[in-house]
Amino acid sequence: MAAQETVDHKYVYDFSEGNKELKDLLGGKGANLAEMTNLGLPVPPGFTITTEACQAYLATGREPDGLAGQIEAHLEALEREMGKRLGDSQDPLLVSVRSGAKFSMPGMMETVLNVGLNDESVVGLSAQAGQNDRFAWDSYRRLIQMFGKTVCEVPGEEFEHALDEAKHAKATHNDLDLDADDLRGLVDAYKKIFLKHTGREFPQQPREQLDLAIRAVFESWNAERAVLYRRQERIPADLGTAVNVVTMVFGNLGPDSGTGVAFTRDPASGAQGIYGDYLANAQGEDVVAGIRNTVPLQELEQLDKSSYDELLGIMARLEEHYKDLCDIEFTIERGKLWMLQTRVGKRTAAAAFVIAGQLVDEGLIDLDEALLRVNGAQLAQLMFPRFQLDHEFQPVAKGIGASPGAASGTVVFTSARAVELAAEGESVILVRRETNPDDLNGMIAAKGILTSRGGKTSHAAVVARGMGKTCVSGADEIEVNVPAKRFTVAGQTVTEGDVVSIDGTTGKVYLGEVPVMPSEVVQYFEGSLDPEHIDNALVRAVHRIMTHADGKRRLAVRTNADTGADAARARRFGAEGIGLCRTEHMFLGDRRELVERLILARAPGEREAALAALLPLQRADFEEIFREMDGLPVTVRLIDPPLHEFLPPLEQLAVNVAVAQERGEDVAKEEALLAAVRRMHEENPMLGLRGVRLGLVIPGLFAMQVRAIAEAAVSCARNGGVAKPEIMVPLVGAVQELETVRAEAEKIIAEVVGDSGVEVLIGTMIEVPRAALTAGQIAEAAEFFSFGTNDLTQMGWGFSRDDVEGAFFWRYLELGIFGISPFESIDRDGVGRLVRIAAEEGRAARPGLKLGVCGEHGGDPDSVHFFHEVGLDYVSCSPFRVPVARLEAGRAVVESGGSDSR
Ligand code: PEP
Ligand code: MG
Repeated sequence: MAAQETVDHKYVYDFSEGNKELKDLLGGKGANLAEMTNLGLPVPPGFTITTEACQAYLATGREPDGLAGQIEAHLEALEREMGKRLGDSQDPLLVSVRSGAKFSMPGMMETVLNVGLNDESVVGLSAQAGQNDRFAWDSYRRLIQMFGKTVCEVPGEEFEHALDEAKHAKATHNDLDLDADDLRGLVDAYKKIFLKHTGREFPQQPREQLDLAIRAVFESWNAERAVLYRRQERIPADLGTAVNVVTMVFGNLGPDSGTGVAFTRDPASGAQGIYGDYLANAQGEDVVAGIRNTVPLQELEQLDKSSYDELLGIMARLEEHYKDLCDIEFTIERGKLWMLQTRVGKRTAAAAFVIAGQLVDEGLIDLDEALLRVNGAQLAQLMFPRFQLDHEFQPVAKGIGASPGAASGTVVFTSARAVELAAEGESVILVRRETNPDDLNGMIAAKGILTSRGGKTSHAAVVARGMGKTCVSGADEIEVNVPAKRFTVAGQTVTEGDVVSIDGTTGKVYLGEVPVMPSEVVQYFEGSLDPEHIDNALVRAVHRIMTHADGKRRLAVRTNADTGADAARARRFGAEGIGLCRTEHMFLGDRRELVERLILARAPGEREAALAALLPLQRADFEEIFREMDGLPVTVRLIDPPLHEFLPPLEQLAVNVAVAQERGEDVAKEEALLAAVRRMHEENPMLGLRGVRLGLVIPGLFAMQVRAIAEAAVSCARNGGVAKPEIMVPLVGAVQELETVRAEAEKIIAEVVGDSGVEVLIGTMIEVPRAALTAGQIAEAAEFFSFGTNDLTQMGWGFSRDDVEGAFFWRYLELGIFGISPFESIDRDGVGRLVRIAAEEGRAARPGLKLGVCGEHGGDPDSVHFFHEVGLDYVSCSPFRVPVARLEAGRAVVESGGSDSR
């Protein structure tokens, strides 16, 4: 039964049998050749051997049963159609054998042209070409060269070398100066090379040539470069390639022949018009090899007006048919146009938006479809300033592209120096081994941040992304020496005052200043470019598509912001509230002393005094944020990190104390501080005394924050504003923790709010796996959940979020354990499952429970689709990701086939 099935299985499709939907089976090239054939376009006849045949060959090491017979039958049909026989000595049919996988893998796999030529048919080919011996022998030598290299692994340089010798003998550099006799001699030389390396004569049997070429294309799927490319592009390894056997047409038959490539619009800018290159008297490989210079396609109009007009007509037809930008390869053989390939063309991010807008105008697609033609990654790209790089600039190191953008500036090593130089109007790059909350002012002042340690969720990365500031983290080739104010890289030393440039998209670091261009899309979001009144196709297209996305999306988009300035910017970018206001930075700078007093308090009343001094400062922080987010919800998270993070580092303090003691100075205060730092030292601070645990252990700390929030809201209301505070408790793992905090908070809120009309919600982060698994209980005490997917990923996987990405993720990616860091894009199966369980069980316990996410994933395109699917109410992300999240939330609705606009 199984054997019968194998015999009957269809492995070969004539071009007239396929269509563009069959890419899985026929590969992209085969499916599109079939589509063009069925449209009646001039495609040289041929057939496609399926990816299934390739998969079977790769699994067993031999052609599947039935394949040889099917190839034979299709070859005979092709011979009948063309009125020629493969390799016939009088009038030979020649074919090309071309790879073509489902996803384009340019230049990765093999092609053999002119299959069917041998010592006899070369004469027939010459006769066919009007006694053009030169052309015939040139075609033959190309076959031996390509076949030798591709099928039999003969080193390509040997052929190149023989060709150079032939040209040398003729005292020329130009292939075209070699005449028929020279090329006949070259064929002999090539055959000898072939024999030397393979131990056999060049095969004269056309069918054997064909079979070996097909087999070589199958095998090229597993060539090292193809495997690497697939890994890079995340193309599954088991798809296999199809093989197209296509009647040869020749662009090298003289000046009335040629070959070219064309785009139906400009793939760089999206501008309408014809873009392409043409090369007369040449085969496709010559264009790729850059042997001679091509001319702009428009010049074909002078050379061959009728082919040019026909080509333009076909291009218009293809665009209308595919409803998208197409790219095309064609050949003209003695005035007759042939289409060799088409596909929906790759394009830049800018062109993607512009073209989607144009196609809507032209009535080819609707706005829903336009939304699917662009994506958040493209939008994000358009929002970064870019380097204008030329070959002059070579990177000296590569780290993690932690926060995209391009920044050049003077190197500084301390936050204080960054602030100083920035105040003088200088652009600075803050370079540190890693950053901590103390560096915040320096980070705000800097144009960019470069660290030698830390991953995508390290402090530097998260804070930089929040600020929309360029950051390269974990550039471990860089040796940073802060006290000496220098770093070394690639044998060079960079000292304070030198200029470096960092690319937060690629992670590359350059010495010297690379010129930077600002983003006009950001200018539009900032409100300084009005799409209705400027002649900028990109900005207009972005505006139009964003407006449609906003109309479509169900998810609200909030922002993570903890200053008034960030809140204001995020609002301009379309944020509909704050989903996470981290309060920890509010405990730094000149407030550090108060925090030290709070931590060191021993005598009664000391702690209360410190908290009382902090209260008005916190109230002012919240007033500013509520003002900027007037009328919109603001989720304020009570302090999260361990308190010892607010004290000086242990080693530095110990040294200071020892030195001062040596000098006989009074160090009582420093000693107390040192004792506190020692007392509070933790081996695993991420799993230690932080979040709600801190609130339960330090009396009055959370109470002070709750009071400040409530008082700020009331003051806002008194001034005619509308504050909608949502108090969020971090790191809850058990409902009892939340209940304890809640009981205290409710009392304070009731007392402060009185009859002011202010409403304060109390909810929790879900960021500890136990919280997700007991969400039904926790929901009883929470009016909202916000998923802290950074910690949920850290604790779900047991991956230290500050260490693992730089340390060993490369190996996990290489092994395919995951395709992308789970800190970057939500791990749907594991961490995502925790989110799903918590969402379902939380809502079951408390219908209408408000659900959001505020981990870094809230601005990641794929994760936004996941959060839409699980039914969250909003995502919250850094200000610069807000437009990306808006776009993706709209796309998620269209993609899931829904029309559930808000
Ligand atoms: C989180 O854990 O996802 C989160 C938002 O909190 P933080 O990153 O501040 O720990
Ligand atoms: Mg967290």
